[in-house]
Amino acid sequence: MNDKARTHRIAVIGLGAVGSMTAWQLASKGFKVDGYDRFAPGSDHSGAGGSTRMFRTIYPESPNYSGLLEKSSTMWRELERASGLSLMVSTGALTISTPDSVMVSSTVAAAEAAKVEYEILDPATTLARHPGQILRDDEVAVFDPGAGVIRSNAAIVVAADRAEALGARILSHTEVFEISAIGGGYRVSSSFGVEQYDLVVVAAGGVSAALLPQFADKLVTRQLTTTWHVAREPQSADPASCPLVLRRSGPSRSFGTQCALDASTVKVGLLWDRDDAVSETDGFALSVPSEWEALTAECLADLYPNVYPQSVRTQTYADAFSKDGHGYVGELPGAPGMFVATGFSAHGFKIAPAIGALVTDLITTGFSPLHIDELRADRVSTADGGTGLLWVRPA
Ligand SMILES: Cc1cc2nc3c(=O)[nH]c(=O)nc-3n(C[C@H](O)[C@H](O)[C@H](O)COP(=O)(O)OP(=O)(O)OC[C@H]3O[C@@H](n4cnc5c(N)ncnc54)[C@H](O)[C@@H]3O)c2cc1C
Repeated sequence: MNDKARTHRIAVIGLGAVGSMTAWQLASKGFKVDGYDRFAPGSDHSGAGGSTRMFRTIYPESPNYSGLLEKSSTMWRELERASGLSLMVSTGALTISTPDSVMVSSTVAAAEAAKVEYEILDPATTLARHPGQILRDDEVAVFDPGAGVIRSNAAIVVAADRAEALGARILSHTEVFEISAIGGGYRVSSSFGVEQYDLVVVAAGGVSAALLPQFADKLVTRQLTTTWHVAREPQSADPASCPLVLRRSGPSRSFGTQCALDASTVKVGLLWDRDDAVSETDGFALSVPSEWEALTAECLADLYPNVYPQSVRTQTYADAFSKDGHGYVGELPGAPGMFVATGFSAHGFKIAPAIGALVTDLITTGFSPLHIDELRADRVSTADGGTGLLWVRPA
């Protein structure tokens, strides 16, 4: 352990996907960590709620993420060994569209660039290998064999528990109201009281901008709606025969499906071009647009017949979206000791453990081999353009 680790007090604000992993990693290096969450780590109020998240090894958002994905994959397994729980279940993933679409071409390009294994399947091969996955004659599926489903709430609970076992203090049901610079460090005011820290890591997800004025015009809180559908056959909800699916379903609509790992349902997320920004959220009581059920049912009846189209559960969760669709990770320019890890724009869960390791590297040595330009925190002064949802945009 180096001297910095022995002496620095660090506050991690937000113990969702990224904060819990960061607290775990910092505690493992011997830092004195206080982790704050306004609910409890792993609660359904965070952006990682709803029990599961997709893990993909092919990342069309940018092939540069491959190091983070590889590191995360190792760390999910490390958390499994530490807890004895199954946290990541292999299923593979199918990205379905026409061969010349952005969705397919960017997926193939990302796999090639990152040298990740993949296959392009025609409709007959897809149906033979993945019962119920019916492609139109003009469509293909790009198969990512390394993809799977992560038990999101459970993974967060386990990471926070590891952090605590390594000496971190976990302050659940403790909301942080303000962070202010004082005497070369930071004062954190929360429902627990006022505490002084050398360093702060803000990982407050969808509501990070409320604590970081620099991000007021850089991050937007968006809500994403998830529905759960009962499988028509047992194998359609069995991870062994229920690959993740990412699929276009209209000129400006896409949907994703994943095995819910509950033996009976499949989770569906419909995305379409609409204004889904929300101004304030407690991360739970977000409203679902009235047309949602009908649009989802129509899309499933047409393209995903192995589940009943009417949902048995509907829930919304919020995440912070940046303008270019990439998160912000690192020390803020002009604010020494203030680190951020936020803005993951609906694809942060799969890389969360690696982000925790990355932040810990930066704090410990000022450098991380995991860092990529897409995630630089100093973009806060320049980032612009994009929606953060590459695969929902019209082809
Ligand atoms: C519906 C949906 C589906 C998604 N699907 C996927 C997927 O399949 N794969 C994938 O990789 N990613 C997916 N994502 C994205 C991923 O879940 C998020 O990017 C990730 O959870 C972000 O992690 P985070 O730590 O930044 O935020 P969160 O996980 O939301 O955690 C933030 C935490 O901060 C706490 N907090 C907030 N404010 C305060 C405060 N003032 N004081 C104390 N605590 C505070 C919150 O309670 C929360 O626990 C999805 C997101 C959504 C919404």
